[in-house]
Amino acid sequence: MGCDDVWEVNGSKSMLAMAAGSGFIRTKASRMNDRFPEPPMGYADLMPPHEEARELVVVERLADGRVMELRPRAAEDWIAMKAAAACDGVTLELISAFRSVARQREIVAGKLARGQSLEEILKVSAYPGYSEHHTGEAVDIGCPGCPPLTEAYAGTGAWGWLMAHAARFGFSMTYPRGNVADLAFEPWHWRHRSVVSP
Ligand SMILES: [Zn+2]
Repeated sequence: MGCDDVWEVNGSKSMLAMAAGSGFIRTKASRMNDRFPEPPMGYADLMPPHEEARELVVVERLADGRVMELRPRAAEDWIAMKAAAACDGVTLELISAFRSVARQREIVAGKLARGQSLEEILKVSAYPGYSEHHTGEAVDIGCPGCPPLTEAYAGTGAWGWLMAHAARFGFSMTYPRGNVADLAFEPWHWRHRSVVSP
């Protein structure tokens, strides 16, 4: 199967635009803002805010119907990396890609509503506006049969492959052990940056 089979360029984020433009989402977001706590002092020094992606392409449609989107350059390199891994017998399974700021806010709000403190939540989730997922350059990667989004991923052959080869495709792990942002070790989370030729 060639890369073209899984890469459909649509050059727009029409579904997201529709969602953002609907009164339902706006109303829900503004109601949440009323009691949404501010980020802790100094948070932005450790976790720089990011701009939300303006152009997205569909990279994959998962079996459960979810559409995975990334910025065009990241999408291109993700597809190339996945194909290279497959050639080495390694499956890179895409678990999550672009996630809007509004969606991140919903996730954090949901955890607050379930009684978690913001401090506790920010150990594992970024404050809305600070997640790399809305840049359209971050992916969460798993492998078939592995429990998703756990440290156990760091013990898999797929992770070993990424450690050896991902840099070639512009991907790096944002939250290694002991990261400066003091976020939990996330061996599954990788961010794309365009590779600059030496
Ligand atoms: Zn992630």
